[in-house]
Formats: sequence, structure tokens, C-alpha cells
Amino acid sequence: MDIITFDKTNEQVRLGDISEAPPKGLDRNEAKKELEILGEELFDLQDLLWGARQNAVLIVLQGRDTAGKDGVIKHVAGFLNPRGVNVTSFGVPSEEEREHDFLWRIHRRAPRKGELSIFNRSHYEDVLVVRVHDLVPESLWKERYGHIRDFEELLVEHGTIVLKFFLHISREEQEKRLLEREQEPRKAWKINAGDWEDREHWDDYTVAYEEALSRTATKRAPWTIVPADSKWYRNLVVARTLVEALRPYRGDWQKRLDEVGVRKKADLAAWRKGR
Ligand code: ATP
Repeated sequence: MDIITFDKTNEQVRLGDISEAPPKGLDRNEAKKELEILGEELFDLQDLLWGARQNAVLIVLQGRDTAGKDGVIKHVAGFLNPRGVNVTSFGVPSEEEREHDFLWRIHRRAPRKGELSIFNRSHYEDVLVVRVHDLVPESLWKERYGHIRDFEELLVEHGTIVLKFFLHISREEQEKRLLEREQEPRKAWKINAGDWEDREHWDDYTVAYEEALSRTATKRAPWTIVPADSKWYRNLVVARTLVEALRPYRGDWQKRLDEVGVRKKADLAAWRKGR
């Protein structure tokens, strides 16, 4: 299974060339087993992240309506210890938020050291919905790609591991899911006319996404394209990407915890002696 990542700024992204379905031949039950194993490793890595307090993790989830942002939060974040996780959903900005620059509300929700934050939608809406629905002049949103790159670089400089996921769903699967939502009382609260209306802008969103992904992909804040028509594969790709990104830090975090352990032991010995 190959994970599709973009990490070069301005490299062309063509969503039409990327499948929304899982690779052929991948067994669903095997995938679920792998997800469980990854989940355990994720829990362990998060424990080290929390204790070492050297880094933070930011997960950005973007995707069209019904692409599964909530599902990823439920299934992948479900492996984590809630103590160190925070989830923020970014909806239509409030008046106060609109009176600030577009990154103001985002920056205050960025994770502190030790934490893992998940953004359900994010600053990317400010070059997506805002562009498609003409909410600000083009001259303004065009400037934002650079601001976003600089902002994410600032987070990385501070020790934040930034991972961005585009949940890639097909038009047909979206229709199926919207109809399902409409028909099932347990899901109907999630749907509104705007979701159907936005489908009419499908191609405009494609253009906006392709440019956003391309202009903001960097080595240190890459985009992963997640085929999202099958929920089990979607969850697997996100979990695996996350584990593979955090694994290289394991040694550092462990070392820091060992140092803290030695220091604490010495402090306690001194304290006992002084009693
Ligand atoms: P979701 O589809 O994310 O699960 P939802 O449809 O239930 O959520 P909310 O969470 O209330 O709705 O808000 C999401 C809506 O807010 C989306 O339509 C999104 O485009 C819009 N939105 C988010 N950020 C902005 C922004 N910066 N400017 C304008 N609209 C935004």
C-alpha cells in the first residue's frame, strides 16, 4: 500500500488522477488488524510525546462534506489518551474572528508541547470555501498561501509536527452518504441544504483544493491524500501516516524521559537526605 504524499511546494496536484478507492487486493480484515496494531503503537508514542514535552503534534483534516473528518477523529483519535488530545472544529467565523486576521483563531488552538491537536477544518477554509463562494477578493485569498506556509513553518520551528490530510471522496460516494444522512434519523442532524448546494460547486472545489494543496505542501508540513471512499482504508492510511511520522522521534522522547527519570531520582535522594 502506497501512501500519496505531497511535500514539494508548487508541485502539480491532480485529484482526478488519484483514486478514492482502496488499492485492489487489499484485504479489509487484514487492514483492520493492522489498524489495531498501529493504534497500540500510536497510544505508546503519544505517551512518550506527552511525557517528554519536547514536541507537539498538529493534525489538519480537510475534505468535502461527508469525506469522513468526524470518522477519522472517532476512530483514529479513539486510540489516543484523551488527556493529551484536543479537537477543534472550525465553522463559519464569528464576528470577533472575522475582525482579526484569518490565522488568529487558528493559532490559539495550536497544540502546546506534549499535546496532539486535531483540526476538523482549519485555516484552509480561508482559501477554499472563501474562494469558491467569493467571500473575500481574490487578491486577498491569493496572499494566504504564503501566510499559511510561513505560519506552519513557525509551528514546526517551535517543535510542532504538522501533518495535513485531504480526505479524498468521490462524487458518487458523497451522494450516497448525503442520501443516507437524509434518510437515517441518527444522521439527519448532520445534513443541511448547504451540503447539497455545495455539491453544485464540486469542480470549483476541486480547483481550489488542487491549488491549496500544491501551494502549501512543504517538506516539513506535507499533505497526505487519503482515499476516503472506504472508511476502513481511510482510517488505516491516516493511522499509518501518523505512526510513521512520529516513530522517528521515539528515541529522542525516550532519552528525554530517561534524563528526567535520573534527575528526579537524584532530587528525591537529596530530599530524603535533608529530612
Ligand atoms: P462539518 O461539515 O465540518 O462536519 P457542519 O457542516 O456541521 O460541519 P459547522 O461545523 O457548523 O458545520 O461549520 C462548517 C462550515 O463552516 C462549513 O460549511 C465550512 O465551509 C464553514 N467555514 C469554516 N471555516 C470558514 C471560513 N473561514 N469562512 C467561511 N466559512 C467557513
